[in-house]
Amino acid sequence: MNCGGETRSVVKRKCKETNETLSFTRAEQKKDKDMLSQQQDRNRGRSNKLLSYWELPDYMKDNEYILRYYRANWSLKDAFFSIFRWHNETLNVWTHLIGFFLFLGLTLANLMKPQVVDLLGMLTRSFSSSGDKNVSHNFKDILLGTTLLFDLRHQVPLKMQFQSQELVTARWPFFVFLGGSMFCLISSSICHLFSCHSRSLNLFLLRIDYVGITVMIITSFFPQIYYVFLCEPHWQLLYLVGITGMGLFTIVTLLSPSLSTGKYRAYRAMLFCSMGLFGIVPAVHACFVNWGNPRRNVTLAYEIAMALSYLTGTLFYVTRIPERWKPGWFDIAGHSHQIFHVLVVVGALAHYAATLKMLDWRDSFGCGTIVQ
Ligand SMILES: [Zn+2]
Repeated sequence: MNCGGETRSVVKRKCKETNETLSFTRAEQKKDKDMLSQQQDRNRGRSNKLLSYWELPDYMKDNEYILRYYRANWSLKDAFFSIFRWHNETLNVWTHLIGFFLFLGLTLANLMKPQVVDLLGMLTRSFSSSGDKNVSHNFKDILLGTTLLFDLRHQVPLKMQFQSQELVTARWPFFVFLGGSMFCLISSSICHLFSCHSRSLNLFLLRIDYVGITVMIITSFFPQIYYVFLCEPHWQLLYLVGITGMGLFTIVTLLSPSLSTGKYRAYRAMLFCSMGLFGIVPAVHACFVNWGNPRRNVTLAYEIAMALSYLTGTLFYVTRIPERWKPGWFDIAGHSHQIFHVLVVVGALAHYAATLKMLDWRDSFGCGTIVQ
């Protein structure tokens, strides 16, 4: 029948249309799927794209005034090579890495110097034992270039001349400070470079960074206490044991996972402050002990420069200036943490200069009282 035939043809047409619609839908779905997989491929290729603050995982949200150029969940290899890329941690890494190499250079230079001085000391001692002490004294002065010692020779009691000839002031407290500074600077660089890897590594490196700061504070006290109280061993021992004990307690506290949470932030801050405040006691004591020392003012000037650097740095760190004034303007360069890093290096260099002055004084005069 026609009617039946028509119906069949309508059904056929409908079927054909349905099939076409289905195949069209499948093609669309396939296209969508292809596009999605292409997008995923692109994303995989660009897994190292820099993120904005709002895209970050919670553990990385630390400074809401730095808006862009974040790395998050990067592989260790990619994080390592990001040292040569611009992101908001590049200058944080480099400021302390340059500081580390600076202190490494100073350490190596000082490691070489005492060997030369010791060699010359041995030479002069062998001369002095075989002949005239005055000749050997002049010889040593000329060789070491200690013109100050030479100039002051007639103003210093004879006993002290003899003492200065024999003196070899211990270097280890000076190297403890240099080592502590290097440890702090390198652990800070590593922390800033790799903390984008994962939450667990981020937490671990943060703790290491805190330990680095503690080690730097503690070791900075070593040469000062040792050289200032060189001739009062009981004070020397008391202060050194005191600061070491305090430092060890702080380190153990900072390494304990339960105490490194936000809840104990005030407690940690109190520990850092108490270490800094502890320094006031031997510092005031040292001022009284060295009241008659002509080098006191120079040493004190360096130490004040150090204190001002650390203090200003901490102020930038806490207030998050200047990025809080113009969020997003200082993402790459000029934000508070970078300023804090630079001031830490400047402060450590000032402390290094002060330590050299003290070492030079002890090398020249030992435990003698300097009369101007
Ligand atoms: Zn830092």
